[in-house]
Amino acid sequence: MFDGKIPIHWLHSHAYCEYQIFLKHVKGVKIAPTAAMMMGAKRHSVLEVEHKEKATEELSVDDALKKSRDEKIVLIAREVPVAWSQLKGKIDEIHFMSDQIIILDDKPNTVAWDSNKVQVWGYCLAFQEQFRPKLPISALLRHRDTQKTIWEEVFTEDHRDTVLIAVNRISGIMMGEKEPIPTDNINKCRRCSLRNMCDGKRNGL
Ligand code: SF4
Repeated sequence: MFDGKIPIHWLHSHAYCEYQIFLKHVKGVKIAPTAAMMMGAKRHSVLEVEHKEKATEELSVDDALKKSRDEKIVLIAREVPVAWSQLKGKIDEIHFMSDQIIILDDKPNTVAWDSNKVQVWGYCLAFQEQFRPKLPISALLRHRDTQKTIWEEVFTEDHRDTVLIAVNRISGIMMGEKEPIPTDNINKCRRCSLRNMCDGKRNGL
């Protein structure tokens, strides 16, 4: 049942092809977890365990914002839940600094695809709305295995608008008020795990 809050990782799927949202979450098409999905879940668990082993204290987000500002130190938190009126999700990692906040998402690829960027913009927006930090927020994509930064950019009003447009489309599709549009990129359909169940895919597949 759709509660009006969009899981932030859906933004990735929507940016790839919004017909995926329709198939998975309106029609209820199910796919078995792929090897890549299982590997991703395992790697996230490892990173979480490593973080917990190194963690020295447990703070709320508000306390972490204050402590990093007052003591001019960097605090790192993982798997931080966020929720706003239209979005909900869990942020892979947050770096609290005295002069900025960095929202990180770990990804298996070395390229910063637009679909990855809009997902991390979604986390930035939900964090900004929920906690209202008086600091700039940056989005960062990091390679899940090498832990190297792939891309980093300050979150702006334009990024916020990009997320809100996607949220509006997804909500409309979920409520049956908007027609989902399949991608016209046949290469995306070729790589799509839903292609065998999709009635909107490009001809020739
Ligand atoms: S097969 Fe193509 S049109 Fe269908 S959901 Fe996948 S990417 Fe979209």
